[in-house]
Amino acid sequence: MKIAVLPGDGIGTEIMAEAVKVLKVLGLPLELETALVGGAAFEAHGHPLPEGTLNLAKAADAILFGAVGDWKYDTLDRPLRPEQAILGLRKNLGLFANFRPAICYPQLVDASSLKRELVSGLDILIIRELTGDIYFGQPRGRRVATDGHFPGAEEAFDTMRYSRPEIERIAHVAFQAARKRKATGTEGRVTSVDKANVLETFQFWKDVVTDVAQQYPDIALDHMYVDNAAMQLVKAPKKFDVIVTGNMFGDILSDEASMLTGSIGMLPSASLNSKNQGLYEPSHGSAPDIAGQGVANPLATILSAAMMLRFSLNQEAAAQRIEAAVQKVLTQGLRTPDLYSEGTTKVGTAQMGDAVVKALG
Ligand code: NAD
Repeated sequence: MKIAVLPGDGIGTEIMAEAVKVLKVLGLPLELETALVGGAAFEAHGHPLPEGTLNLAKAADAILFGAVGDWKYDTLDRPLRPEQAILGLRKNLGLFANFRPAICYPQLVDASSLKRELVSGLDILIIRELTGDIYFGQPRGRRVATDGHFPGAEEAFDTMRYSRPEIERIAHVAFQAARKRKATGTEGRVTSVDKANVLETFQFWKDVVTDVAQQYPDIALDHMYVDNAAMQLVKAPKKFDVIVTGNMFGDILSDEASMLTGSIGMLPSASLNSKNQGLYEPSHGSAPDIAGQGVANPLATILSAAMMLRFSLNQEAAAQRIEAAVQKVLTQGLRTPDLYSEGTTKVGTAQMGDAVVKALG
C-alpha cells in the first residue's frame, strides 16, 4: 500500500510527523514516501506542485497531506502560491468528493463554543463538491495582475458554474453515504445546501439533486439556503445528518462546523475520486501563527490517516484502532492548547502523538 506523504508548510510538518509515527506502528505493509509541496516546494523547485510530487501522488494508493501556505507568499502571482498545490492535486487526480465528518466526542463537549446540549452526541457529515464551482470557473477576472493584485483595476470577477454530471456524481455520493450511515442508526437524510433564490447555478444544482433523489426512495431529501444553513449549524446542528453542497459553500460551512466539535484541530477530511483513490488532510490550514512552537493539535491529521485506511486502503480494523486510541487519550485528559481547559493536562504536538501511539496498545 503506497502512501504519498506531503507535509507542506507551517504546522504541516509537525502534525504529519505524528501521523506518520502512528501509521508506522500499526504493523501494516505501508510504503511511505515523502515529497515537498506548497511553499516548501516553491522554495526548492520554484513551483508549489512540482512534477515529481504530482507523479508521486498519482502513483500512490492514497495521499496524506498536511497543510500549505504562509502569509509571506501572498504577493506571489496566484499560480505560484502554495494553495495552488492543493487545487492542482484535486484537479489532476479528479478528487471531486470531500468528506468532512463533524463529530463531537463526549470528552470535548465543553470545548465547543456552543452549549453542551446543542453539541452533545453530534455526528454529522458534510460532503463538499471539490472540483467545480466558482473556484474553478473560467474565465477568472485577472486583468493587470502581475503580483496577484490588481493595481489600478476597476473590477474583478470569477465565474460560478456547475455541469449536470458534476452535480449528479456528488449527489450520488451523498445519498450513498446517507444510506451507509442509516444502516448504523442515523436518520438517512440529505440536506442539499444552495442559494437557488439568487444564483442560477444553484437553482440548477437544486433541480439536479432533486432528480438524483428519485433513485434513493429510502433517503429523505430537503433543501436549505446557505445563509439559513449557516444559522442552523449553530442553532440546532444535530438536526442535520448529511449535508451536500458546492465547493465554496462547503468550504465555509465545514469550517463553521469544525467549531462545533471543539477545535478545527480535530476535524479530518477525505477527498475521493471515482476510483476511491483519496487525499486525506486535516480541515485546517498551515496555521503560521503557531508554526514551529510544537503546540499544534495533530489529531485531525491522525484521524485523517484513519479515514485513509478505511476509504482507500480497506483497513477498517486499523482505522477503528486509531479512532479508539484518539478517544482514549482524550479520556485520559490530554489536550493540546487549542482544547485545553482547567482540569485537563496540557500537552504539545509530539506528546499527543506519542500518547496516541501508546494508546494503540
Ligand atoms: P488555519 O486553519 O491555518 O488557522 C486558523 C486558526 O486555527 C489559527 O488561529 C490557527 O492557529 C488555528 N489552528 C489551525 N490548525 C490548528 C491545529 N492543528 N491546532 C491548533 N490550532 C490550529 O487558517 P488561516 O489562518 O486562515 O490560514 C493560514 C494559511 O493556511 C494560509 O496561507 C491559508 O491559505 C492556508 N490554508 C491552507 C489549507 C490547506 O492546506 N488545505 C486550508 C486552509 C488554509
